[in-house]
Amino acid sequence: MENIRDKVVIITGASSGIGEATAKLLAQNGAKVVLAARREERLHAIANEIKQGGGEAVSVKADVVSAEDMQNLAKFTLSVYGRIDVLVNNAGVMPSSRLNELRVEEWDQMIDVNIKGVLYGIAAVLPTMREQQSGHIINLSSTAGYHVSPTNAVYAATKFAVRAISEGLRLEESSTSRIRSTLIAPGLTKTELFDSITSPEVQTIANQISGIGISPYSIARAIAFAINEPDDTLISEIMVRPTALP
Ligand code: NDP
Repeated sequence: MENIRDKVVIITGASSGIGEATAKLLAQNGAKVVLAARREERLHAIANEIKQGGGEAVSVKADVVSAEDMQNLAKFTLSVYGRIDVLVNNAGVMPSSRLNELRVEEWDQMIDVNIKGVLYGIAAVLPTMREQQSGHIINLSSTAGYHVSPTNAVYAATKFAVRAISEGLRLEESSTSRIRSTLIAPGLTKTELFDSITSPEVQTIANQISGIGISPYSIARAIAFAINEPDDTLISEIMVRPTALP
C-alpha cells in the first residue's frame, strides 16, 4: 500500500467502529493519522495503541457539529504535520425511528452530525488542499443513502445528502484541482452505531439483524483501497454489504 505511506490523514469519529478500524489500518500502512471525536480518553487509548505498534498518530477532541472545532482540528494537523492529504468524514449517528414518533431532537442531531459535520469538515480542509493542489476527501454514506425503509427516513435523508455533497465536490474539484472525492457506502456493520437508537421498535429490529453485521475492518479496507490508488485515479463510490443480507 505504497500510496498510503506518509500521507497525513484526519479521521472524524475515530473513537470507535469504522473510524477506529480505519485509523489502525492506515497507520499500519504508514499513514500519519489524526484521530478526532468527542470521547478524548478513548482517542488517547487508540492513538497510544497505534504508537506502541510502531505507527504515527495524534488525537484531538473535536465535535463535528462545531465549525470552530473543525477549523481547529485542521490548524492542529497543519501545525504538527504541515499538510493534510486525506480527510475521512466518518463521524455519524443513527437514532432511527418512525416519523410519527416525532423525535424532533433526534432528527436535529442526525442532520447536525451527519450533514453539517461533513460540510464543516470540507470547509476546514478544502482551502489547504487547494493550496497544496492535492488532497482526498472521503465521505461515509450508507446503503441507506440509496434506499429508504420505514423507520429510517431521516437517517436515510442525511445519507442521501452526503452522496449529493460528495458528488458535487467531485464535479467541482475535477475541473479545477486534483482533489479526489470518494463516497463509501457501508451496509450493516458491527459497531456502536446502534447504541443511540431509543425507539423500542427499531431496537428490536436492530437486535434481530445484528448478528449479520460485518467487521468495521471490511469498511476500513475499502477506504484504504481508495486512498492507495494512484493520485490520478479516483474511486468515486464503493458499497460494502454483508453477504447474508438481502
Ligand atoms: P460508531 O458509533 O462506532 O462510531 C461513530 C463515531 O462518530 C464515534 O467515534 C463517535 O465518537 C463519532 N461521533 C458521533 N457524534 C460526533 C460528533 N458530534 N462529533 C464528533 N464525532 C462524533 O459507528 P460506526 O463506526 O458504524 O459509524 C461510522 C460511520 O459509518 C457513520 O457515519 C455511520 O453513519 C456510517 N455507517 C455505519 C453503518 C453500520 O452499520 N455501522 C452502516 C452504514 C453507514 P464520539 O462519541 O467519541 O464523539
